[in-house]
Amino acid sequence: MTTIERDQIGIFGKMNSGKSSLINLLTQQETSIVDPFPGTTADTRVAVQEIHGLGPVKLYDTAGLDEESGLGEKKRKKVLNLLEECDLVLLAIDPASKEFGPEREVVRRARNRAVALFPVYNLFRSEDREQIPALEESLPELKLFPRIALSVVDPGNRPPLLKFVKENYRSRNFPAPLLPSLKRDEYYLLVIPMDVETPAGRLLRPQAMVEEYVTRNWAYPISFRLDLGRGRSRRPGEREAEKARFLGLINGLPRPPRLIVTDSQALDLTAAWCPPEVELTTFSIVMANYQTRGRIDLFARGAGVLKHLRAGDRVLIAEACNHSRIGEDIGTVQIPRLFRERFPGVKLEHNFGREFKDPEELRKYRLIIHCGGCMITPQRMLARVRELESLKVPVTNYGLVLAWFQGPGVLDKVLAPWRLPPPG
Ligand code: SF4
Repeated sequence: MTTIERDQIGIFGKMNSGKSSLINLLTQQETSIVDPFPGTTADTRVAVQEIHGLGPVKLYDTAGLDEESGLGEKKRKKVLNLLEECDLVLLAIDPASKEFGPEREVVRRARNRAVALFPVYNLFRSEDREQIPALEESLPELKLFPRIALSVVDPGNRPPLLKFVKENYRSRNFPAPLLPSLKRDEYYLLVIPMDVETPAGRLLRPQAMVEEYVTRNWAYPISFRLDLGRGRSRRPGEREAEKARFLGLINGLPRPPRLIVTDSQALDLTAAWCPPEVELTTFSIVMANYQTRGRIDLFARGAGVLKHLRAGDRVLIAEACNHSRIGEDIGTVQIPRLFRERFPGVKLEHNFGREFKDPEELRKYRLIIHCGGCMITPQRMLARVRELESLKVPVTNYGLVLAWFQGPGVLDKVLAPWRLPPPG
């Protein structure tokens, strides 16, 4: 049974910016308060709703961030901290307002925590629209986000508001297929090299997810443990024997596998041995697409920048966590080594953990190479790539970069199952 999760949507803004009207417009009623948020009863009200077109949501109606007398600094912080619980923040803004300190703080926090944020310019009067350029000059970061201007007290604006949210937001329940075009009763070969550091008793999360997904959809997952040492061996016969074991499994099936999903570390062997008629991709690419709810196209375009890199370009390696780094770590060892050999003049920098660099910093990079982002939610991963997209900074992914370094044709081969044109 598929679990339906509720998207958590926070309505933030100053007093009298139209937050309550915005929530009423979304829910099409005087919102029923069903579940006071613990500890902030007076500051935040919570409604659990099914919004037609958006699905099940939990809505937080927060206190005005400039309510100095009633709110106090401690409670104001509590309201701001709630932002981190949200999948989506709707920031109600009165364009005629002259001071945007609270909005600036919400934008800063949303960026730092990679929370999706949509400014809603509330047009109290039709002439308020003319104030928007000045507002965006005062707070240019707003232009990084999808935004809408309308009167939130006009019930006729509900359809355009919902359309705007649906077009720009990927719900927790957005049906992103794990694999492209999965077919019932077909074979799916999972290439899983294991070494002494591979934990016993379980598969890695992407491997387990693919196995479960194939099985759930009435197809047949088959695991192949590839011996990387033998496959790359120069001792007479070892490499050939490992290749024969791999092809022996494929040829022994009633029909060729529809798709091979390989660990990126084994791509040198699987790309070389994969029969031409069989499609190939990697676990890393599968996860990059899944974590961004279907945006593999963006990473593919970003990979197209690799061949245009020149000495002096800056490239950022971004990881969403601070995991302990051992051995042949991809971000700190493998990719830097490949860059040193192929792009000696390119400056490689790192951004580890949940804090992402400021937009002004990010703009200076020719390319961002992001990890799979498995330690953050898809919403947060998506918020990062969406920001890079609005900054027009190309972004790609570890799996695609490793494929590109394998040589001509390998990147195209691993992208082909996703029915994307080869990156330019
Ligand atoms: S892929 Fe996951 S574990 Fe690896 S760096 Fe990114 S967030 Fe951390």
